[in-house]
Amino acid sequence: MKLSQIDATLREIRVSPVKTLGQNFLHDRNLARWIVDKSEPSPDDYVVEIGPGLGALTEFILESGARVLAIEKDQRLVEFLRNRFADSRLEVVHGDALDFDLRSLFAEPRVKLLGNLPYYISSQLLLKFTKYPSPISLWLLMLQKEMARRISAAPGTSDYGALSLVVQLQYRVEFLRTVPATVFLPEPDVDSAFVRITPRLPDELPPHDPETFFRLVRQGFSQRRKQLRNLLRKEIPNWEEAAGRVGFDPRARAEQLSLEQWIALSEQSRSGLSTGPNTAASERFTVVDEKDHLLGDAPRSEVHGNNLRHRAVHLFIFNGQGELFLQKRSRWKDRHPLLWDSSAAGHVETGEEYDETAARELEEELGIKAELTRVAKLPCSERTGWEFIWLYRGEHEGPFNLAKTEIEHGEFFPTEIVARWVKARPDDFAPGFLECWKASEHQGEAI
Ligand code: SAM
Repeated sequence: MKLSQIDATLREIRVSPVKTLGQNFLHDRNLARWIVDKSEPSPDDYVVEIGPGLGALTEFILESGARVLAIEKDQRLVEFLRNRFADSRLEVVHGDALDFDLRSLFAEPRVKLLGNLPYYISSQLLLKFTKYPSPISLWLLMLQKEMARRISAAPGTSDYGALSLVVQLQYRVEFLRTVPATVFLPEPDVDSAFVRITPRLPDELPPHDPETFFRLVRQGFSQRRKQLRNLLRKEIPNWEEAAGRVGFDPRARAEQLSLEQWIALSEQSRSGLSTGPNTAASERFTVVDEKDHLLGDAPRSEVHGNNLRHRAVHLFIFNGQGELFLQKRSRWKDRHPLLWDSSAAGHVETGEEYDETAARELEEELGIKAELTRVAKLPCSERTGWEFIWLYRGEHEGPFNLAKTEIEHGEFFPTEIVARWVKARPDDFAPGFLECWKASEHQGEAI
């Protein structure tokens, strides 16, 4: 909409922009089109728009044929949007975007996030909607210029800080352009800027433990002017040596270290606790015949390399609401890295029975004990990776103590979301889980 149209519309629907809701409406149609074009929307996309307002961006997203979920807090604007776009591809949700349950987005094949964010909560929205691991593959956001500068900042600049590193650990952030206050009605007090955020490739950065990284970075930037060696004395006692190994001046301040150097430094502070490749080379598995009768045992590499029939367990752990806990496999796993998998799973090792393995895996991977019941036995086939699998179920509310070398992340999901997710993005899952999920669906009520 043009400025005059926005003005007239606001009068017609008797809305005067609410400052506390960050209501600054974009009236430059060329800019709106340019912004939407940057997301390269297509009919295969599911675009989530935060704070659609009067629909300045919504109009062009819909034009592309994409489906749109628009989350708007102001009820008056929700009604206006529903009238303005009688389009079956648009769903307008009345609510606070901060309360939105992102898990539902995993059930959509490709999700993009677009928004001219309300500035009073833009950092909270940014952190919420970029929480890792994310179902979103591309973010295009209008932010206050200062904030856009901070999240896209390079080392050695005054904008570079803990926020830059927290976001950049998982994402690439591009500062696309500055947007003057004059393109909005009413004009905000500050200029804006438009950024594009994309996920990093899985092996783009060296092995690291995000928790340690965040803790160190926050501590390092807590007093920008101080030298790091005075701030990180406790975390890294052998400072000179660590600085030499990572390759920076021991007198450096936080802003002088690159992302890669911060990662290397945080790994120095946890020396001995490896998050890196875990090949479990010494494991020996039970080997069986086509009827699951014991033949003997063999090293892991031989079992997998020669497609020997062997035994495994998968565990589905549910919480009180009936949600299923899924784990995202560690990026350092030799098989199916970064794919989503059962709550816990593992091979039957030499001398073990299925039930013993199930209890052991539960403790090793999730750090808990729980009563487990058998649900179904899956026959050995190429699809199970030549495993006979016993699927178990159990109940636990968490929290879990996840085995970091095995698991990157874990979360409970409503089963109806998992059912849609499996159909929409089967490649997100380890094949063993897909087989177990199918078997559990056949069990119906039992699971
Ligand atoms: N996208 C429109 C545009 O470009 O003209 C409006 C952008 S305006 C800066 C921000 C919008 O977010 C407003 O419509 C406001 O009502 C809405 N909003 C504010 N807080 C919100 C929240 N917590 N959740 C969802 N929408 C919110």
